[in-house]
Amino acid sequence: ISLLQLISEAIRVIPDFPKAMLQPGIAFQDVTTILLDPAAFKHTIEMLVERYRSMEVDVVAGFEARGLIFGAPLAIALGCAFVPLRKPGKLPGATISAEYTTEYSVDQIQMHEGAVQEGQRVVLVDDLIATGGTLRAGIELIQKANGQVLEAACIIELPELRGREKLGGLPLHVLVTKQ
Ligand code: IMP
Repeated sequence: ISLLQLISEAIRVIPDFPKAMLQPGIAFQDVTTILLDPAAFKHTIEMLVERYRSMEVDVVAGFEARGLIFGAPLAIALGCAFVPLRKPGKLPGATISAEYTTEYSVDQIQMHEGAVQEGQRVVLVDDLIATGGTLRAGIELIQKANGQVLEAACIIELPELRGREKLGGLPLHVLVTKQ
């Protein structure tokens, strides 16, 4: 089987999780089973490295929580900086924030002030794009810091939710699409 199939098959689906957040019948894509499979995890990172190797990336910015897991090894392999994008109140230094609305609440993500510098070339990383709100807020954060977002990368896209359309034309790179 192909590497992408290997990665796709390593993703476990959990029905009705998280109960409080999602409507019944929603299938949660659980990427922790990729992490249990050393070959699948390695290939996932290597495919992202392949994609960004020659794009002169200065910063990989990963979203809490699962974007941190995939973003950090990518940054090491590219030899660039890694910047965590976190939920409110987690980062100890001065932060800048961007807001986004989910179906259930208004949320925020934060980044340390000065973590991304003017003109730096940034790739955003998360495990999954659903409605696109999270990535949209990430784009806004990097733009507030006058960074240049080159692309967003996700392991999984749920195309039915049309999150891609929220990214204002920013290229989105995904490894696996799930219905
Ligand atoms: P969005 O903002 O609607 O695109 O939702 C994407 C965010 O929610 C990402 O940070 C994901 O980690 C998380 N998320 C939503 N659905 C799932 C899922 O099925 N599996 C894993 N993460 C999910």
